[in-house]
Amino acid sequence: MKRLVILGGGESGIGTAILGLRNGYEVFVSDKGEIKKEYKNVLGNFGINWEENNHSEDKVLNADVVMKSPGIPDSIPLIVAIRKKGIPVISEIEFASKYTDARIIGITGSNGKTTTTMLTNHILVEGGLSVGMAGNIGDSFAKMVAENDFENYVLEISSFQLDGIVDFKPHIAIITNITPDHLDRYDYKFERYVASKFRIAENQSAEDYLIYDADDTVIVDWLEKHPVKSQLMPFSIQQELEQGAFLKNNKIIIKINNETIEMTTSALALEGKHNLKNTMAASTAAKLIGIRKETIRESIANFQGAEHRLEKVLKIQHVLYVNDSKATNVNATYYALDSMSAPTVWIVGGVDKGNNYKELMPLVREKVKAIICLGTDNSKIVDAFGNVVDLLVETYAMEEAVKVAYKIAERGDIVLLSPACASFDLFKNYEDRGNQFKEAIKNL
Ligand code: ADP
Repeated sequence: MKRLVILGGGESGIGTAILGLRNGYEVFVSDKGEIKKEYKNVLGNFGINWEENNHSEDKVLNADVVMKSPGIPDSIPLIVAIRKKGIPVISEIEFASKYTDARIIGITGSNGKTTTTMLTNHILVEGGLSVGMAGNIGDSFAKMVAENDFENYVLEISSFQLDGIVDFKPHIAIITNITPDHLDRYDYKFERYVASKFRIAENQSAEDYLIYDADDTVIVDWLEKHPVKSQLMPFSIQQELEQGAFLKNNKIIIKINNETIEMTTSALALEGKHNLKNTMAASTAAKLIGIRKETIRESIANFQGAEHRLEKVLKIQHVLYVNDSKATNVNATYYALDSMSAPTVWIVGGVDKGNNYKELMPLVREKVKAIICLGTDNSKIVDAFGNVVDLLVETYAMEEAVKVAYKIAERGDIVLLSPACASFDLFKNYEDRGNQFKEAIKNL
């Protein structure tokens, strides 16, 4: 019996454990921290051995194959030791893809993954296909493969998952965009992060497709230097394209071979330029799969957006409150500010990830009437924008930030939470931050 050791007893670990067991592996789950109670119950029910608060080296180094959770860096001594022994270290998507013949649509990028994944899934479901949505979103891919028999999977894939692939290939890959993020895991080398994202296409062949943002110079330059075998399907909001998706006269045009679809942008459920791009990417994927034009048009008009992503919360005294808590980097906030259609009171701040605020400057000058910093240390934001806006207030709790925003905002304004930073100084995670924002608004 082959021994599968799983490092990390989280969502992807538990899914892999179940799938491994179903496929005849002797499975052992090892977590350096505590495993959630619900997951321990699942492992118990399946009779899978596990340990927590420890990695027993003898057991781990006795594996035939190791599945590493995406959260564990490659650089830790245990992983180095496993590799030195010649034991393969793979990711959950690599393992899961061995056990399904379904069509895979894999979505990666620095921003827009979840939105594009949800929208693609929505169009496919509306088109009547058998489809499972997994990856960084909801259930793990491995768990889905273990428990279902879908004909299509739409997967949100992080660069850490791609770092652990060998043969994994999506039939349709989407790279939404590439901007600096998570560089701490890539020796602060942007090229290594870009290379990691492009691994989504490395096993693709001429029957497969790569959908990507043709306005993103990082992607375009990389493709010029590192051609892929798959068919290229670019999308753009700046230029007309011979093949792919682009804008013309306020319409999205998708041209694939000799077929063309036109969709009016005013009918889209999601607002903002970035969502035009996400919509183009998802619709192109759906069209390549053969979903009818009418279904695509209807689906992108009736899609309910994802929580914490430019989510309209409430209007109070003609002031709209928008929750974009998921904006944990500058690029995401750039698109949020860009899509603001009224004077904006901007709540920003948290844990700085080496942010450079320069690119936001023109938008802040144009759209922002006041800044409310929220976090334990926002000196970089104060330095960057202190002289740019008329009013900048520092706050240290969500309730306080929302109360201050309420006082400042006037009829017709927008209050936007788009932090451009991680949330861990004051909150459990970005969901907690977004939920506290919504709670505070309801308490006004
Ligand atoms: P991800 O899953 O890649 O983190 P999300 O869809 O959750 O992406 O969106 C994260 C943040 O980025 C949100 O604040 C959202 O408004 C913004 N965003 C969404 N799509 C894009 C895009 N194509 N380009 C830039 N920012 C985007």
